[in-house]
Parts: sequence; structure tokens; C-alpha cells
Amino acid sequence: QTTHVILDEAAIRRALTRIAHEILEKNKGIRDCVFVGIRTRGIYLANRIAKRVQEIEGEPVPIVELDITSYRDDVVRRIAESPPPFVPELDPADFMDGKIVILFDDVLYTGRTVRAAMDALMDRGRPQMIQLAVLVDRGHRELPIRPDYVGKNVPTAKLETIEVRLSEVDGTDEVVIIQT
Ligand code: 5GP
Ligand code: MG
Repeated sequence: QTTHVILDEAAIRRALTRIAHEILEKNKGIRDCVFVGIRTRGIYLANRIAKRVQEIEGEPVPIVELDITSYRDDVVRRIAESPPPFVPELDPADFMDGKIVILFDDVLYTGRTVRAAMDALMDRGRPQMIQLAVLVDRGHRELPIRPDYVGKNVPTAKLETIEVRLSEVDGTDEVVIIQT
């Protein structure tokens, strides 16, 4: 098993700063934007980028956490018994309707998680637009989904895995590729 660091702490910091600027440029500011972080690490990325946006623009961005575990199409769908995927519990219409929703996740692979996230959003509200930001795009898409903002494109073999370590949960900031 070999491990290579593909993004170190400084590289992650620069990538997130660049993405913050790209979001502001594409959307001509941050008004009407809502950040939605997907489960564990997407929410930390959303938080970090929101902090930079606030430093640059002087305006806060609403951030919502989304847990789409129960929405994946390759797991059994149990919508009726599932807890609502939004944490904290808000009326999704209040924060989504007419808004530019920017989804955040750590790694984009087949695209199924993002599809499930879009299903969850659109079941509950009417965003004006949905955009996607990921720290790593590792390729191998199985759906017609592409990110609007990418920290780093990392061509991978299917047997390789990307490990994203963020200080909030892992005590360190780095992205490594593991070949087994
Ligand atoms: P997808 O649904 O696009 O196949 O996979 C994306 C989701 O699975 C993301 O939520 C991501 O966290 C996780 N994921 C898929 N592949 C990897 C990987 O190589 N490394 C990490 N850290 N997460 C992955
Ligand atoms: Mg994930």
C-alpha cells in the first residue's frame, strides 16, 4: 500500500480561498446564495468557504447541513421512516426557494451522492439554481453531473481511494491518495 499527499494544508487553504473568490465572481456577490454541506466533511468545507466569503464581502452566508444517507439510490430507500435529511430542522422552503443553492462535498466520484442531494433539495423546495463545489474530483462519473468549483482534479484508478483529512474531524489538513 502506497500513500501520496496530493494536497497539503497550504494547498487546501489556497484551493478554498480560490473557490470562495470563484463563487463570488460567478454569482456577482453572495446575496441569494445558500450553502448546503453534505454530511461530515462537506459541512466543514462549506463552513470554511463561508468564513472566507464573509471576510471578503462582509456578509454572512446561510449554511445548512444535509445528510442524504437515506437518499442514495443504491441503498434501500426508506423515505417514510427516514429522519428528515436537513440538520438543523428548518422549513426548507424558507432557506431554499428562489435561492442559489451551492452544494459542498469532499470528493466527487460517481455522482450518485450529488444526485441524491439534489433529489432531497428538490423534493422540498424550489431553488433558483443549484451549483456544486468539491474539494477533489476523482473522476469515474456514472451520471451526467459536473462540479462548478473544484479544489483539485485527481484522475484515479477505481481501486485507489482518496482520503480527505480535515482538522475539524481528523486533527490535520491533508488529502492523500492511497494505492492498494
Ligand atoms: P459518489 O456518490 O459520487 O460515488 O461518491 C461521493 C461521495 O462518496 C462523497 O460524499 C464522498 O465523501 C464519498 N467518496 C467517494 N469516493 C471517495 C474517495 O475516494 N474518498 C473519500 N474520502 N470519499 C469518497
Ligand atoms: Mg462524503
